[in-house]
Amino acid sequence: MSIAKVIVDVPSQNTNRLFDYGIPEKFESVVQPGVRIIVPFGPRKVLGYVISLAEYSEFAKVRQIEDVLDIAPALTPELLKIGKWLSQQTLSFYISCLQVMLPQVMKASYRKELWRLTEEELPEELENIFAGRGVIEYKEFEESNVSYHQLRQYVEDGWVDIHYEVKSRETTKTTTVVEPLMEPMQLEETLVDLSKQAKKQREIVQYFIDHQEPVPKKQLLSATSSSSSSLKPLLNQGVIKEYKQEVMRDPFSHREFERTQPFPLTDEQREAITPILHTLESETHDVFLLHGVTGSGKTEIYLQSIQKVLDQGKEAIMLVPEIALTPQMVERFKGRFGSKVAVLHSGLSAGEKYDEWRKIQRNEVQVVVGARSAIFAPFTNIGIIIIDEEHESSYKQEDRTRYHARDVAVERGKIHASPVVLGSATPALETYARAAKGNYKMLTLTKRMNNATMPDTELVDMRDELHQGNRSMFSRALLDKLRERIERGEQSVLFLNRRGYATFVMCRDCGHVKECPHCDIALTYHRRQERLKCHYCSYEEPMPHQCPECESKTIRYFGTGTQKVEEVLQELIPEARVLRMDVDTTRRKGAHERILNDFGDKKADILLGTQMIAKGLDFANVTLVGILAADALLNLPDFRAAEKTFQLLTQVSGRAGRHKLAGEVVVQTYSPDHYSIQLASQYDYEQFFNEEMKLRKAFRYPPYYYLTLFTISHPNQLKVQEVTQKIVVYMRNKLSEEADVLGPTPSALTRINNRYRYQCMVKYKDEPEQRKLIQRILHYYEDELKEENGLQISVDFQPYQLM
Ligand code: ADP
Ligand code: ZN
Ligand code: ZN
Repeated sequence: MSIAKVIVDVPSQNTNRLFDYGIPEKFESVVQPGVRIIVPFGPRKVLGYVISLAEYSEFAKVRQIEDVLDIAPALTPELLKIGKWLSQQTLSFYISCLQVMLPQVMKASYRKELWRLTEEELPEELENIFAGRGVIEYKEFEESNVSYHQLRQYVEDGWVDIHYEVKSRETTKTTTVVEPLMEPMQLEETLVDLSKQAKKQREIVQYFIDHQEPVPKKQLLSATSSSSSSLKPLLNQGVIKEYKQEVMRDPFSHREFERTQPFPLTDEQREAITPILHTLESETHDVFLLHGVTGSGKTEIYLQSIQKVLDQGKEAIMLVPEIALTPQMVERFKGRFGSKVAVLHSGLSAGEKYDEWRKIQRNEVQVVVGARSAIFAPFTNIGIIIIDEEHESSYKQEDRTRYHARDVAVERGKIHASPVVLGSATPALETYARAAKGNYKMLTLTKRMNNATMPDTELVDMRDELHQGNRSMFSRALLDKLRERIERGEQSVLFLNRRGYATFVMCRDCGHVKECPHCDIALTYHRRQERLKCHYCSYEEPMPHQCPECESKTIRYFGTGTQKVEEVLQELIPEARVLRMDVDTTRRKGAHERILNDFGDKKADILLGTQMIAKGLDFANVTLVGILAADALLNLPDFRAAEKTFQLLTQVSGRAGRHKLAGEVVVQTYSPDHYSIQLASQYDYEQFFNEEMKLRKAFRYPPYYYLTLFTISHPNQLKVQEVTQKIVVYMRNKLSEEADVLGPTPSALTRINNRYRYQCMVKYKDEPEQRKLIQRILHYYEDELKEENGLQISVDFQPYQLM
């Protein structure tokens, strides 16, 4: 094979195809599908992925591969296939789909440089920039006064050249090791020969007489309290040698995990796991929905299914929402499977992630526990894929390659002929509907472990509180129950939904709200730095002391953050020991873990937090859960608002009374009669499903209809309107009568980063031509979609963010 078919790292409509490159002889043995290479592309050099090999190219002239980055392919043949499938499913560039499957550090970084081609003094204006150096960054030229035209002349005259550097950002961590090259006898002789003044050298030789093993240099130097300079003569004489050794960054190396044994399953659990074990035995693909209330022992079923897979010599992928990937969760998997487990989550540094990924690639582990992107783990013999909390919207990637991990799981499950298990107490409506129809197999757990019952829920109408003169964010009922818990030595969890509680700044005199000058959205107040920040772009400014509209000094922040709640709580119950867990208190590495450990060790009475505490926490002593504003999510412009509210309330309530002590939940709300709040407080998923399905059918939403969301953006508002209008008309004409084409509508966030945003929504049942039509639209706008022309069209086939 002498030709490689390559996808290049140039994400654009007209480069979204295979390019042919010649394989130089020296690379013949290493160039194979899945390998990353560096190739010339136009005047540049770029990263590329080898997709396949061929004998001939139909082109007369092909350029040659410049360099090869991998010895073992970065992507397995199966993942190459998944990449192709993904690009068809999501209409994303092939290159983006390949890159989304790999750790960040394996993407290329590009550097443009100017290289001096001669030792002679350069023309004056050039020499001014180079200042004697051999290489400068291209940026330095751009910042100078030299024109592009001049530069071209200098390049033609052979003074300098433009050079493109492509680098993979991956780094392996190494440590220097020192090893004796002599037997102890010889070392003794060396010692005799050393002069008495060479004290440190003598100590080092003595060290190796006592220990004959390689030792990390650092350790050696500190053991002999010497420095590198004392090593030098010994290295030169060949007494010792030093070399670099690769070390794996193991984020969990400082932890010992207590090994756990499988529990004997309950009858319900056994009934649920049996069909999964059968599919494993028959090595067939199937999708299961494991619908079990919180605390019903789903995780134990995952663990025992994985055990079976390991016994078969296969591998397992376990997905957990980012936010639930708590130390507690990791412990359960590490505790059962020890060093067979790799963990991938966003708390790891890029280097740590890369090392965990390589453990998978080198078959050093058989289980990966991770957030969304772990679905692309480069295992080659997958026995099972499990998605816990399958309803979580974080399984959907929201930029570029808009994939849903659930879809990828099913696709990989088919290829490997292995089961996919979707677990949840509150399945996504789409999933439950499929299981109800028999497309997925339904497994049900109705009881909590330890005979625990679901906690009793009290709904508190906050309007009543207000009418009775309580203006605080805490109802009297909740305060009473919190105090009770403190007296009894039990613990409470307080949940604040941050999205509804973002703090914005408003003038009390004129009502002016401080907004971002680039985006149509209120700025958020950050207490610690006394600054206002935009959460959509990077804009920030100091907190004003005066209203910019009316100059009144009564400009204040509104809404409540966890910090504010903590303050109020401390005022109301001074004796309470409160731990706060939110983005602010968990920024530092390990902080998350420390807070949870402290709470577990009963160093606090109340754990106050955001979404972060909604999932996966399991503390025996927690008997009260308070939800401060249940309706915060209900009012979002999103057809899933009721579903999300139901899910969140159920999740949070599930934190209480998981063990011997009974639990109680207090839900504070302004809409206590809403069906999602009512039914969540009764833990009645089926009833909620039925109610919600009626509405979805009436308003033509999923799971009855599919949605396609186009979001069009451009700095010029007229341009956006015009393009959106064209798309709407085109889709309306080409799709069948059955499809609804809605728009053009300004998006709920009409402007982000000075770009205006409009949308078009298609609701449909079956439109086999749809993707082809959209391809045509994208081709039609090919030129305008180039970065410099400012138009962006994003297409989302499974929209979760409708704003
Ligand atoms: P879920 O994942 O459904 O929320 P868990 O798997 O966390 O439920 O189970 C709740 C608790 O019950 C955990 O502390 C778990 O260790 C325990 N548990 C699970 N299965 C069994 C079993 N068969 N026997 C005893 N304890 C169990
Ligand atoms: Zn004002
Ligand atoms: Zn902004």
